[in-house]
Amino acid sequence: IKNGSIRPGGNNKSAVSKRKGFRPPFPKKEEEEKEEPPEKKPKTEGEEMVDMLMEDKRTNGCERHMIELILSELLDTDLNVTFNDIAGLETAKRTVTELIINPILRPDIFKGQRAPAKGLLLFGPPGTGKTLIAKAIASQGSAKFFSISASSLTSKWIGEGEKMVRTLFAVAKCLSPSIIFIDEIDSLLTKRNENENEASRRMKTEFFIQLDGAKSDTSQPLLVGATNRPQELDEAARRRLQKHIYIPLPEKKARVDLVRHLLKNERSDINEDEMDTIGDLSEGYSGADMRALVQEACITPTRDIDLMTVSEEDIRPVTLEDFKTALNVVKPTVTQEELDDYIQWNNRHAK
Ligand code: ADP
Repeated sequence: IKNGSIRPGGNNKSAVSKRKGFRPPFPKKEEEEKEEPPEKKPKTEGEEMVDMLMEDKRTNGCERHMIELILSELLDTDLNVTFNDIAGLETAKRTVTELIINPILRPDIFKGQRAPAKGLLLFGPPGTGKTLIAKAIASQGSAKFFSISASSLTSKWIGEGEKMVRTLFAVAKCLSPSIIFIDEIDSLLTKRNENENEASRRMKTEFFIQLDGAKSDTSQPLLVGATNRPQELDEAARRRLQKHIYIPLPEKKARVDLVRHLLKNERSDINEDEMDTIGDLSEGYSGADMRALVQEACITPTRDIDLMTVSEEDIRPVTLEDFKTALNVVKPTVTQEELDDYIQWNNRHAK
């Protein structure tokens, strides 16, 4: 103890109580009674965003809980998709760059007669990259990406659907530039039928109102709808989704690129000629089918060995033979008949 202020065996009380700021370990009775109010927790980033949105006049009439739901359930912040991650689809990439991404990046140039479309329809067989293209538009245009499937709009939000659509557009405007992506849009904007109930009719009407919203408003979000069943869309829906882009099955080169991309971090022993053979043998496979094929081929070397004793680096590389085996298991999911329908619809309605 420095400078001997506390004497061993002596009465040290005065020395202790003189120490600055000393507080006895147990509060005195009267201190206990006037407990300090609990400290206010600082607001999270999300809460601050909701506050900011509530203050914006564009959300007038919107409910806080709905804004919170939209931010937590529909706003997708995991946007690490670029065009380089998407195999093939060169025409679609070029078209969306010109029609959508450039205008998002340079709103000062793309106005007036050059103003971009506010509705885009991506149609074609399932698993061909429609969702990837929509995400890449958002990430390359640094736009917010709200994503919802129409079936969840019509089931989960039923009853509140109309309000939900209005709030979604209001939030998207506040956070502009924004993209609202609706998967399976055919089930939302379907041709009227007798089974259509009042709630979904009202939701559809609200969608049209929002889509027709002030065209000159630069904060108007871009609506991207994806569908495998474009035939289900009626004329009113087709008209509002001004641009229609066909997303076809991948061509041979795209299929090979996709296999290469997916095998990037795997051990494989496949030369250029063999890659070419995989490209030929996978004719008619979608991008999603190709992914399933690669996964199946990569599993094959783990069969017929004692997995409990083998070390990971002793598992043999994937070969063309594994792909041939996998091709017997993983079959293409799209039929020629379905493809013919898309091509026919494309010829009739694409613009
Ligand atoms: P959909 O056309 O049904 O929206 P997705 O974009 O969701 O299809 O694709 C499903 C999955 O299939 C993707 O996550 C990706 O793994 C794979 N895939 C499909 N098409 C492509 C493609 N052109 N390039 C790369 N991966 C693709």
